[in-house]
Order: sequence, then structure tokens, then C-alpha cells
Amino acid sequence: MTPAPPARAAVAVLGSANMDLVAYVPTAPRRGETVTGTAFHTVPGGKGANQAVAAARAGGAVTMIGAVGADAFGTRLRTVLTDAGVDTDGLRTTGGASGTAHIVVDDAGGNSIVVVPGANAAVDALTGGDEARIAAAGTLLLQLETPLPGVLAGARTARAHGVRVVLTPAPARQLPDELLAATDLLVPNEHEAAALSGTSDPERAAVALLSAVPEVVVTLGAAGCLYAARGADPVRVPAPRVRAADTTAAGDTFVGALAVARGEGRPMAAALAWASAAAALSVRREGASASMPYRREIDAYLD
Ligand code: ATP
Repeated sequence: MTPAPPARAAVAVLGSANMDLVAYVPTAPRRGETVTGTAFHTVPGGKGANQAVAAARAGGAVTMIGAVGADAFGTRLRTVLTDAGVDTDGLRTTGGASGTAHIVVDDAGGNSIVVVPGANAAVDALTGGDEARIAAAGTLLLQLETPLPGVLAGARTARAHGVRVVLTPAPARQLPDELLAATDLLVPNEHEAAALSGTSDPERAAVALLSAVPEVVVTLGAAGCLYAARGADPVRVPAPRVRAADTTAAGDTFVGALAVARGEGRPMAAALAWASAAAALSVRREGASASMPYRREIDAYLD
């Protein structure tokens, strides 16, 4: 008899939804200069929306709390989420513009970015409906691209209802003690881990961060990740070797898949291997959320 499939992991995501507007140029313009670009793409993103899509494709029952503007970008961002099966009842539509990231990529691969938060600025407090969505979840995913008061309110609500809090501390900034105290699992990349701990050695950084949170996963790009928990030695988990086409949103894919695997009750070692496979699959393909793998692809990759 085939074993019954695990109950779906219930995941709430509180965070940003942005449209990335990416222009490719031979050389970035200097002040006052106009240059002719070679290509332009609009790419739906924002760490919140990316983590929601990743978790939904990985098989989670996902609800998104955030905001988009009453414009064409907002409509497209909502569609990307609903197409992935994410519940968007908690995604407000505000009167202004959707969040945008204006990205100029030059031929040498360098980039400059202007982020305009737009509607994301409205996620600074929770509605009663948002609190109910968080209370009904098993896991809450948080990042730092929406206003800190809203992030804190989400963490507080999760804490009050016994919901596990997974925090991606990006973009890097000082974190209030209350947010760290409400965090069950912190998932920085190596730069964020260094900024938070003051040491660039990932092992030492992870161990230092354990004074604030019970579990830490430092992601290390193609080198995989490092898991540390109180009372045990840190463990390195290698990433599958793949030909990288586009690493955009690899970290969000990793966190979304990890939350689903843990929410289904898988042990941490198995969950990290599964999340690493999901992230590796996403870097093999071009795109942000468009490159994120579905559950069957992750399972097939590990078979
Ligand atoms: P992003 O900002 O692009 O979302 P990040 O900086 O948050 O990424 P990384 O540490 O670069 O996160 O990557 C997250 C995870 O994705 C890694 O721990 C690893 O599992 C996987 N990964 C990233 N790059 C590669 C790669 N080139 N090959 C295989 N796996 C990768």
C-alpha cells in the first residue's frame, strides 16, 4: 500500500510584492546622460510574493498578506500569486502605485537598483483578517521589505497563536530584540549573517546568532547552506551541482520549500536536502518566480 500523502503545510507569508523593471545597457548612464538599452523585462517579484509562490509550488496551502497598487502591475502580481494557487484575500489593493524595483544591468553584469516601495508601505499594521490568517497557519514567513511595525505585528500574532516564525533578514538591517525573540528559524544569506553577527565566518556567525534565535540556516549560494541549532555542532549541507542560468530568488525558493517540508513534519536534515534541491532547480532556469519548481519536480530530482 502506498503511504498516505502528508497533510498540506499551512503557510502564511507577510511581505512585499514588487514588479522588477529591468533594462539592459552596454554601459550604465552617468548623471545627466541618456543611453540606449538593448532589452527590457518586467519580472514579478518582491521577497514576500516570491516566497509565497515557492511554497505553493512546493505543495503548501499558502496565504499571502501584503499590498499591491490599483495599476496594471498590481493586477499582474496578484495573477502570478493566484496562478500558483496562493490565497490572495489578504493582499490589499491600495490607491497608489504598486511597489517597483528599477534595475539597470550593464554588459559587465553590474547593476544599479532603485526600489520604490509604493503599495508595500501600506503593510505597516495588521487587519483582523490578517491576524486570523496567521493564527490559522502552521508557519509564518517574514522578510524585511515591508515596514517593520507590520513585520513585528505579524511576529507577535504568530507567537500568540503558537505559529512557527521563519525570518529572512533581508535587506540586512539591525533587528529589534522583540523580532528576534519571536523568531524560531532565521535564514540569512552569508552577507546578512555577517552584517547581523559582525563576523564573516559563516560557522561563527551562525553560532553567534544562536544567542538570539534557537535555529539558524545560513545560505551560501552554490556552496549550499549551514544549519545550526542550540546544543549541537553546525552542519554543512552541500547544494546539488547544477549549471546556473539565473540565481535570482534562489534564497526565496529555498525558504518556501523548507517551510513546506518542515510544516509537513519532515526532520530538518531531510527538509534541508529537499529545499536545496528546489533552489538548485530554480537556478537552472531563467526567471524569478517563473523558475521555481513544482513539488513533483523536486521529488523527481531527489529520486
Ligand atoms: P537571492 O537573493 O538570489 O534569492 P540569496 O542570496 O538569498 O539569493 P543564496 O545563498 O545565494 O541566497 O542561495 C540560496 C540557496 O540556493 C543556497 O543555499 C543553495 O541551496 C541554492 N543555490 C544558490 N545558488 C546556487 C547554485 N549556483 N547552485 C546550486 N544551488 C544554489
